[in-house]
Amino acid sequence: MRSSRTQQPVTYDVRLPDEAQADALRLLDASRSVVNEALTFLWPSLDDFGTERVGPAWKQVGMYTESPQYHGERQWRCESETVGRILRAQAERKKAFDLIHPILSDGFIRPKTATRPAGKKRSAITEAITALQTSLEQDETSFVELQNVIEQACNYFLHHDRFPLTYEELQPLPLLSVGLLTYAGDDGGAKGQAYRLAIEIEEGQEPKGTARFRFRYPDEQGVWQWRKADTLIPLPNVVIERLKTGTLLAPTLREERKADGKRIAVLDFIVEVEKAELPPWEAMERILGADWGIHTLLTATALDTHHQQVGRPFFLETGGFDGKQARTRRQIDELKKKVAAYEQAREALPAQDSKRRWYTEQMRMLRREIDRCWRKYEQRNRALAHLASNVLLLLARVHGCSLLSMESLKTLKTTGRGKGVQGRWRNYRNNATIRGEIWRLLRYKCHLIGLRFHTEQPRGTSHTCPQCGKAAKTYRSPTDRNEAVNWGRWLWCEACGFNGDRDYCASLNIARLGVAYLVQMKTVGKARPCSITDPRVKPVSYTGAGSVLLLPPTGINPARHVRGKICYCPGWLSSAFLQSSQPKAVFLRLCG
Ligand SMILES: [Zn+2]
Repeated sequence: MRSSRTQQPVTYDVRLPDEAQADALRLLDASRSVVNEALTFLWPSLDDFGTERVGPAWKQVGMYTESPQYHGERQWRCESETVGRILRAQAERKKAFDLIHPILSDGFIRPKTATRPAGKKRSAITEAITALQTSLEQDETSFVELQNVIEQACNYFLHHDRFPLTYEELQPLPLLSVGLLTYAGDDGGAKGQAYRLAIEIEEGQEPKGTARFRFRYPDEQGVWQWRKADTLIPLPNVVIERLKTGTLLAPTLREERKADGKRIAVLDFIVEVEKAELPPWEAMERILGADWGIHTLLTATALDTHHQQVGRPFFLETGGFDGKQARTRRQIDELKKKVAAYEQAREALPAQDSKRRWYTEQMRMLRREIDRCWRKYEQRNRALAHLASNVLLLLARVHGCSLLSMESLKTLKTTGRGKGVQGRWRNYRNNATIRGEIWRLLRYKCHLIGLRFHTEQPRGTSHTCPQCGKAAKTYRSPTDRNEAVNWGRWLWCEACGFNGDRDYCASLNIARLGVAYLVQMKTVGKARPCSITDPRVKPVSYTGAGSVLLLPPTGINPARHVRGKICYCPGWLSSAFLQSSQPKAVFLRLCG
């Protein structure tokens, strides 16, 4: 993707109107066939795409091959740009493979037991990557990349009973399974382009925008031509907003395949926007530490470089949301059961039976309903992820923080046994999906608003006292200290008597790690990851100074019960407790 240090591309996908669908899909089919032929031809030269990366990808592809099916110079440029980008990305993954290949070990594999099939041992993988990274001094982007390649290697192991020896053995030829055509290979606005795109914006109270899109395509007889008329695409408001300050780049045409097999063509509008400038290290004073909670989705607390807590902690609780998602999952299960029963009933009938058609029709309707449920489920997840990331950014701004210190993504464990475990486990898995989404959104949004983003390894952060730095145990509740439990929601320090909500303590610890990172960056200009027990990670104190959070307190007296769940408020008068079931607009109004 063309982007410099100060620019960032943001993408919005818009479905093409019905009248253009058939032609666009035919164009995508033709391109896919060319792209796949070229990929097959160039795959043996993968290494070249990792080393000689000067200039646009289509030029590099052009040095090695001509179009396998010639559909015009500009069309080939778009196709070869697609090919070149795929190969360059694969070459980067190959480099990651070369890094992780020496550390691949059987320890990454969890052996088969009586109740569970063999699988991946994520804790060992995370540990190995962290160790590898410490020696490499790379940032968290490559953590995800390395993890991704290791996971793929483990999947290979689970199928073949050994690790792959080469990247090519691990990665089959990455042919496109659905159409994809990037128009970025097309340079300039001169004649002969493979597409034309113009944006018209009507200024008004609510500005409305339309894109005029015209493209070259093969007709049903395979004759290439321009479409006679422009396709008018109404633009979503967010794209119009972006276009006010950003630059429109060449779009990408893509095919999406729905669960029922239906194909649709979408156009990705790509707008390059100015990245906000990052604050200089010297000027940075405050840090927002955020922890993925066991009991809450996220907990965040702000800290300054003098280890003073700023303002109250923030808990994002998702109780009602989880229940809704669980209900939708149950609904999907019920529908699937019904489909299976109908299928069985249909297969039991003789081939000529007229009732068979009835069953087929019923199954089709049920499957459509399942699809609808999944869409609802995923939409809710996405909405929550956006809400959570926006709230964190808002908190950072309210507290004047210039660094967001975030716990890295970790594998979730089930913390219960017995009744309802399956449902709970699903819930955790869904939370993992949401966390991934929030993490991704934050990385990207931080760039847009000029907030530095840094991740910390969570090891020990929920079992360390933030006040004195000693190891501390957690208990079921503040009043029940008979037995220490690992997942308990109340932390109690034996050494100094400090106690508080576990997730709150963890967010403070993540913020402390962030301070240690920031201080290193200020003094030496580079930082090595610290563990929570490192002497560079200083204890924190809280005096209530600077506690001017715009979020309104829940009352003069601490709100003890919120929907049957206790909201603990140790050390300060009130702590805001907002639930994510609020629509975004309402939520933001609540925040001042
Ligand atoms: Zn302590």
